[in-house]
Amino acid sequence: MSSNVHIVVHPLVQHKLTLLRRSGTSTSEFRQLTREIAMLMLYEITRDLPLTEIEIETPLARMKSPVLAGKKLCLVPILRAGLGLVDSMLELVPSARVGHIGIYRDPDTLGAVEYYLKVPEDIASRLVVVCDPMLATGHSACAALRRLKDIGCDNIKFACLVASPTGVAAMQSEHPDVTVYTVAVDEGLNEHAYIVPGLGDAGDRLFGTK
Ligand code: URA
Repeated sequence: MSSNVHIVVHPLVQHKLTLLRRSGTSTSEFRQLTREIAMLMLYEITRDLPLTEIEIETPLARMKSPVLAGKKLCLVPILRAGLGLVDSMLELVPSARVGHIGIYRDPDTLGAVEYYLKVPEDIASRLVVVCDPMLATGHSACAALRRLKDIGCDNIKFACLVASPTGVAAMQSEHPDVTVYTVAVDEGLNEHAYIVPGLGDAGDRLFGTK
């Protein structure tokens, strides 16, 4: 797998993905497991955030100690399933901003159609973490990244739970500068462009709509 795909191999994350995939997992369990995995993924994604030192006082002495440098991140969930990843990421980085991008998949062409965009004004000066649980055809992800680059974002990472080889290839060809963080790269896509074995429709399973 090429270097711009980072598979989170931590045993806890792999275990939780297995529970998430099972068809018997209830909506509330699915939501909770997604939250837990998302937080652990953000831990990986932020591993190389720059630090600076500030002077502080402990009860015993003054010292220089590291803190995050510069502006914090902006999380951008792709509506609607991407929302499932955001809350626990915010628990880890409470000062992060959140933008939203709405993209749906045209059922006939499977092409990406944008219907909503609202992001912080200073998004271009932040590390942007685009979130969508499933990287299937890559159409929505690539369209979201194109749009964010159009408005000046040049430091972007992509977080998903399960990717397909097709989605990964699309990202590598159109956005080789964007690292994809995923827990697994599955076998492929079925005729409806669902990831196999995958975990089904992530939005429906998160929100209990089917
Ligand atoms: N979206 C989903 O929710 N699941 C898939 O397998 C593919 C796209």
